[in-house]
Amino acid sequence: MNFVDFHCHLDLYPDFEAAVMAAETAQVYTLTVTTTPRAWQRNHELTRKTKFVRAALGLHPQLVAEHPEDVDVWAKYVHQARFIGEIGIDAGPRYYKSLDAQKQVFEHVLKTCASCGPKILTIHSTRAVTAVLDCLERLLPLNENLAVLHWFTGSAFELRRAVELGCYFSVNAQMLIGERRCAIVRQIPSDRLLTETDGPFTTYQNRPASPADVRHTVIELARCRGIDPQGLTSAIQQNLRRVMTQRHEPEPEA
Ligand code: MN
Repeated sequence: MNFVDFHCHLDLYPDFEAAVMAAETAQVYTLTVTTTPRAWQRNHELTRKTKFVRAALGLHPQLVAEHPEDVDVWAKYVHQARFIGEIGIDAGPRYYKSLDAQKQVFEHVLKTCASCGPKILTIHSTRAVTAVLDCLERLLPLNENLAVLHWFTGSAFELRRAVELGCYFSVNAQMLIGERRCAIVRQIPSDRLLTETDGPFTTYQNRPASPADVRHTVIELARCRGIDPQGLTSAIQQNLRRVMTQRHEPEPEA
């Protein structure tokens, strides 16, 4: 295993199967997340025998208002899924209207995870980090389950709180553009860092980013943090192992 893409949407590429195979061939450990639980069966099927690609059962906060009935579909498959996502809350202007519905669904999802876990979650928190952390703190035992905040855009205060709760962070290339964003990313503890592309929603060289592009994210992230990419790569690999085994203490130094 070389690199880690802990949040991308392989089923939204023109050729889903080819996208899975490409990640597998590149040996990038890839978590492909669904935006709707209706996509779960196909995702589950295509990642059953892959060594590097895993699927997550999601219900995207931006889709909650359109398909309130999807929460039942999500619950139907939860026992099959070790990874949950994309889930969360989006309080951006476009989705503000559905905020109450989003919170209800997110709370339901967390309670369900708490009762049939342990689960590993990848969480969306646009303009809603405090609300997301409030829910996590109240509803999900984070000593058993593991939460990864994807595309974190919160404040330094929210970051510290998330770290104290035990959250990990998956960082993409867009989060490294400009000094203000880098300054926040620099404050993520090195034992909580993962990488992601969130492809196809981000681009690399004017095309949708794919899992193999995380190698460039690692280089940018190393530059942002003023460290060597090789060391960062092994730190991320170590973090991934800790996430996958759901051990919450940092590994002792070898
Ligand atoms: Mn996403």
